[in-house]
Amino acid sequence: MPTAFKATFSEGRAGPNLAYLAEYDALPEIGHGCGHNIIGTSAVFSAISLSKLSEKLSGQITVLGTPDEEGTGGKIPIVKAGYFGDVDAAIMTHPWNFTSPWMPSVGIASLTIKFAGKSAHYSTPHRGANALDGVVLTLSALNGLRHNFRNDVVYGYTIDQGGVSPSIIPEKASARLWIKSTDLQNLTEVVDRVKACAEGIAKSIGARVTVEHHYPLFEESIPNMTLMHELSMNFTRLGIPFKSPEETSRSLVYVSTDYGNVSHVVPGISPAISIGSESLSAHTPEFAQAAISKRGTDALVEITKAMAMTGADVLSRPEVVELAKREFLEYKANGFSNVPLAPIY
Ligand SMILES: [Zn+2]
Ligand SMILES: [Zn+2]
Repeated sequence: MPTAFKATFSEGRAGPNLAYLAEYDALPEIGHGCGHNIIGTSAVFSAISLSKLSEKLSGQITVLGTPDEEGTGGKIPIVKAGYFGDVDAAIMTHPWNFTSPWMPSVGIASLTIKFAGKSAHYSTPHRGANALDGVVLTLSALNGLRHNFRNDVVYGYTIDQGGVSPSIIPEKASARLWIKSTDLQNLTEVVDRVKACAEGIAKSIGARVTVEHHYPLFEESIPNMTLMHELSMNFTRLGIPFKSPEETSRSLVYVSTDYGNVSHVVPGISPAISIGSESLSAHTPEFAQAAISKRGTDALVEITKAMAMTGADVLSRPEVVELAKREFLEYKANGFSNVPLAPIY
């Protein structure tokens, strides 16, 4: 990716390799409505400040510039290309409307459903195959199946192509469907059911259908209690008030992030830092304003200190990284952690 980067300090020195992750993409029209200016800057500042303590630390400091979180999920190809292969722990933050070491995030599948039928005069519909019916019936089937899904499944959809005139049986029709669930296994099962519906409907109306992933799958975030504990201690040392992981686990946060995919390959943390009141919502002009406000700048300084101090814990106390790794591997093997993922209602 031309706008990704990797910067290292003390490259190859014995000890853990700690990676700070920088995001920096903005949103169309409203600018930094997701506060990625704070994510990128805190990652770079944490690494630079930690580099000043280099003599007291072991290991390597890395900054990975991971753009396009808002688009295709830029961390996913970076994970797949193996850039986390030599990383022992990852740290990034996200500005939010509360502060907590744990920001639950859920999996998301983004599907494009395309029906191809046969056009006909609308007075003789039986001579055609109505692609729009395929889309409408698939979405209706999905709504009908709703009570068969676990109650953490949420979705939204649009019909992007639905014909050109009511007088013509549409030959082509398409919809986009975004589905969220707290874990990838359940998400995959739901996606399979949607595919089965679309295929069954296509067969019954004499059309063809393709169901493609528009973006790669965003995985849910895996918590790491060891690193969250270190960060919590640092929040306390710095006098930064924060919600416990238990509290944010029970909150109604239903976000998705490509950091989730990183958390499946290395132990990591992605704490939330408050830049405004609890009613502040990301992806709004108000959030963009908060991200460059005095409070936003103060939050940037606070979280940078906490991230740098936690980095120092990782690079100066071998037991931290050992425990973080053990917990990560246990979680991967058993799906177990003391902190549940986002709530299942
Ligand atoms: Zn965002
Ligand atoms: Zn964001």
